[in-house]
Amino acid sequence: MASDTKPDCLFCKIIRKEIPAEIVFEDDTVLAFRDIAPKAPTHVLVIPKRHVDRLSDTTRADEPLLGNLVAGVTEVARKLDLDDYRVVVNNGAGAGQVVFHIHVHLMAGRHFKWPAG
Ligand code: 5GP
Ligand code: ZN
Repeated sequence: MASDTKPDCLFCKIIRKEIPAEIVFEDDTVLAFRDIAPKAPTHVLVIPKRHVDRLSDTTRADEPLLGNLVAGVTEVARKLDLDDYRVVVNNGAGAGQVVFHIHVHLMAGRHFKWPAG
């Protein structure tokens, strides 16, 4: 699994346990950990254990990765007993992506406006 990571990527370093994080869920395919600067009372990032820069780099061939990622989100939500929650993927710098390793934001515990800002 470590061979699927990228040496200088922040989230890959978290996967390899080179940087500490508050991990809430982990299996062979995904890792979930608390956001260091939470934007909601509960704010967890769910990432695939294989490095991919961003969502738009994926294709049909990545269905297993994408399926595991979304299934990972629902598993975390169940584990944390979350009912209503907001799921966000920022794709590209113009959409607010800062860390270029695909991640899903799972946020809960406050009211969320729609449309999202
Ligand atoms: P993005 O803006 O790329 O969609 O989201 C990146 C997220 O990663 C941000 O919410 C930011 O707070 C979080 N983040 C950045 N660096 C770290 C870190 O070292 N540890 C953790 N746990 N979260 C981080
Ligand atoms: Zn990475």
